[in-house]
Amino acid sequence: MAQQEDVFKKIVSHCKEYGFVFPSSDIYDGLGAVYDYGQNGVELKNNIKQYWWQSMVLLHQNIVGIDAAIFMHPTTWKASGHVDAFNDPLIDNRDSKKRYRADVLIEEQIAKYDEKIEKEVAKAAKRFGENFDEVMFCSTNPRVLEHKAKRDALHERFAKALNNNDLEELRQIILDEEIVCPISGTRNWTEVRQFNLMFSTEVGSTADGASKIYLRPETAQGIFVNYLNVQKTGRMKLPFGIAQIGKAFRNEIVARQFIFRMREFEQMEMQFFVKPGTELEWFQKWKQTRMAWHQALGFGAENYRFHDHDKLAHYANAATDIEFHMPFGFKEVEGIHSRTNFDLSQHAKYSGKKIEYFDPDTNESYTPYVIETSIGVDRMFLSVMCHSFDEEQLPNGETRTVLHLPAALAPVKLAVFPLTKKDGLPEKAQEIINDLRFHFNCKYEEKDQIGKRYRRMDAIGTPYCVTVDPQTLEDNTVTLRDRDSMEQRRVHISELQGIIEDQVSITSLLKKLL
Ligand code: ATP
Repeated sequence: MAQQEDVFKKIVSHCKEYGFVFPSSDIYDGLGAVYDYGQNGVELKNNIKQYWWQSMVLLHQNIVGIDAAIFMHPTTWKASGHVDAFNDPLIDNRDSKKRYRADVLIEEQIAKYDEKIEKEVAKAAKRFGENFDEVMFCSTNPRVLEHKAKRDALHERFAKALNNNDLEELRQIILDEEIVCPISGTRNWTEVRQFNLMFSTEVGSTADGASKIYLRPETAQGIFVNYLNVQKTGRMKLPFGIAQIGKAFRNEIVARQFIFRMREFEQMEMQFFVKPGTELEWFQKWKQTRMAWHQALGFGAENYRFHDHDKLAHYANAATDIEFHMPFGFKEVEGIHSRTNFDLSQHAKYSGKKIEYFDPDTNESYTPYVIETSIGVDRMFLSVMCHSFDEEQLPNGETRTVLHLPAALAPVKLAVFPLTKKDGLPEKAQEIINDLRFHFNCKYEEKDQIGKRYRRMDAIGTPYCVTVDPQTLEDNTVTLRDRDSMEQRRVHISELQGIIEDQVSITSLLKKLL
């Protein structure tokens, strides 16, 4: 675990050192849980967004996009339930004065039991070798059974407390499980209280009677309030979806995991409107579609899992998270929710407008049901970074720091180096860039020895480097070096576009989805 924490620290500093992510307002020592994306970070982030957007809007004839404003009429948040119920249960440790989410403390405790079971299994697998029967072992080994019984009992008690909104019981669970504050190491806990996560501000001057408005805590409501506009103007027929990428704001209580939990973040959400009664089928379909989107990146199926919700919001009839194996455990990256007709009905009620769909096939009107897929851009960014970061031992004893980014997401696709700064080599290198820059992001570098330039490109995940040398001037060939294998080969300049373009395009990823 300590080793994993070290890796995470290294990733955070790598992100800063190489222009991916900076603390916000860094010169003033930063602002809690707010971050800025640097010159490489913004490219990677844009590529992630493009991959998502195109997978939704280009690959589906029945999904369109919108871009709604961050500020919305305040009644929106009354109707959606956020004013009354967008709360987290928080608990303070009196000794460290640190604040935690009570539900997260308990979830981490459940994960500890899971880890204990995994360790027993791994130990036994090693001991028994090829003959190991995991199912048999898990159903008979007394230690595994004991951990499992404790885990299940805790899980059940926790789910019940959440469903009943029983704050006293959440605290009691923390006490009974002897959960300690990681900072002070004590069990000196306060009561559990509810805390609303929405930021508010005022619009208009006070003389006119200013009114309180909120910074949206999710982008989804911008889609719901535009359902009628889009359905009518786009002449959309059910089932259809509306996709949106945009900023969201939450006054998170605990914000200690870099860009995993931020106060200002970005979401990519898609609301899929379906005929009532078909929603669970669509829910399954979107679960598979979204998992395939993640796995097309090639990070290994074993690093993902679904986590079904214990506590369903009163309006939801199914919900799951896609979790990714981060250095600090399996964590939610995306949520997929079957939200029934709750949001549209609420907006109909609060606005007094009829928000329905006229079904030309059956001649009836009804309120569509909704399947939502909701993923955080920043969490996705973090998972890509965590999986790609590597400190590789080379055969010559050196270590190289390399980001094995999927080529389609890499900020820079090709770096072009003149071997030396003279004899017309820089001009030749620029010529190559001038040709290729229309097709993908190229970077020119002439400082330092070639080896150092390779390392700098490895550190930002550039999949290809090209070196221009005196031979290039004679026969128009260059050395093309591959980031992952570090292999170099001689190719003709005219071949570069063909070799590289397909590998680095978002299209190459999208094709894996079909
Ligand atoms: P959590 O339980 O971790 O607080 P959530 O269940 O409240 O997350 P949703 O409301 O389902 O999250 O939001 C959808 C997605 O938005 C999440 O899967 C996550 O990727 C992203 N997200 C939510 N809150 C944050 C945040 N504070 N910082 C960064 N991303 C976030």
